[in-house]
Amino acid sequence: MDGTFNENDLSRIVEADRAHIWHHLIQHKPFETNDPRIIVEGKGMRVWDQKGKEHLDAVSGGVWTVNVGYGRESICKAVYDQLMKLCYFAQSAGSIPGAIFAEKLIEKMPGMSRVYYTNSGSEANEKAFKMVRQIAHKRYGGKKTKILYRDRDYHGSTLAAMSAGGQDERNAQYGPFAPDFVRVPHCMEYRKHELDGAPEENFGEWAADQIEAVILREGPDTVGALCLEPVTAGGGVIEAPEGYWQRVQEICKKYDILLHIDEVVCGVGRTGTWFGYQQYGIKPDFVTMAKGVASGYAAIACMVTTEEVFNMFKDNADDPLNYFRDISTFGGCTAGPAAAIENMRIIEDENLLANCAAMGDRMMGNLQALMEKHKVIGDVRGKGLFLGAELVADRATKEPVDEKLAQAVVADCMAQGVIIGVTNRSVPGKNNTLCFSPALIATADDIDQITDAVDGALGRVFG
Ligand code: PMP
Repeated sequence: MDGTFNENDLSRIVEADRAHIWHHLIQHKPFETNDPRIIVEGKGMRVWDQKGKEHLDAVSGGVWTVNVGYGRESICKAVYDQLMKLCYFAQSAGSIPGAIFAEKLIEKMPGMSRVYYTNSGSEANEKAFKMVRQIAHKRYGGKKTKILYRDRDYHGSTLAAMSAGGQDERNAQYGPFAPDFVRVPHCMEYRKHELDGAPEENFGEWAADQIEAVILREGPDTVGALCLEPVTAGGGVIEAPEGYWQRVQEICKKYDILLHIDEVVCGVGRTGTWFGYQQYGIKPDFVTMAKGVASGYAAIACMVTTEEVFNMFKDNADDPLNYFRDISTFGGCTAGPAAAIENMRIIEDENLLANCAAMGDRMMGNLQALMEKHKVIGDVRGKGLFLGAELVADRATKEPVDEKLAQAVVADCMAQGVIIGVTNRSVPGKNNTLCFSPALIATADDIDQITDAVDGALGRVFG
């Protein structure tokens, strides 16, 4: 296309999109006949598409990101002011918003101490993986390079992050993967029947013991770290059962294994506390975060670690190989921390953690009521405003519904003006868990509108 481009001429925008955009995560064949959806504007909990249709966004920008809602003038202003002052400098030097945000963040994370800025959640995770490998070389003669990850967890789209990926659907066609990433079993109560020998009682401790079994099989002197999501997101919105985290912490301590918690989704309020791991009383060695850090107003992610880990990279200062030889160009953008400072202020001043917990309880109650009414819902689960409802063809066998039916529920909600998601990337073609992650500003009316839409959709799709 040529000619001047008027951003208000939305049919022209749709044409340009169809001609040139490769959208994420979707098959493009339908766009030969249907228009791609363009989201034009957002305010609070709501967004408007190219046809002017209003949607209540129950997934915070599609992927658990816009925690404080759309159209926050104070964040935009903070970013503008900072960019006019200094847009960028590489992180070998510091920046004013970088230092301020780091201090504020660490205040919320007792026991943690150092912030490493990156571009994305995948990259933040890779930084931790690299540190684990370097520690293995520095401290353990090149042993302890293995990184354990869990079935159903996800840590990113880059190849090493995918090597730590427990969702087979996403990985199916992208191997071979990086060596020394080793899978441990999932800890999903609802699907424990899929795990050989899982007990009726004390499943949480048993699931953690399976991690110990993998460590013993691999050799404890070869395992450097264990990487886990506090509540598994894309794998089906899974909270670990009682007893799990305490055993995980004991196991890590016993075998000198670093605990890496991936807070890319749960971080910065999503579960009703600043971080998901804080719900379970654990002390991680690495915490990675991205999406909610600046609610999508600027790209920012970070890897946070302890002073103990940091100090390992300070010894032998004359050795040119002994520090963390890593850089992330856009970790030096100042827009990210400037937005993140204001994002955090909003969460505090508007009491959004408490609102998240209260609205999460309300939504859980509504979903439980829907489960009474619709036998296709086999399980509802989650924490705070991070919830899922798993759809099954048969409650006794727990056979997932065909993914097309789950997608039909999403499409029906969309037609009603409510955007929800569907996930469970572990079994190709079986994404059967409706997922909900409205912004932390959600009101009781918003929550009820979301679950009413789901109620109507389930009635129409499943009768
Ligand atoms: N970890 C988790 C738990 C995630 O859900 C995601 C993204 N969905 C990532 C890591 C990767 O983050 P990014 O897309 O920013 O690389």
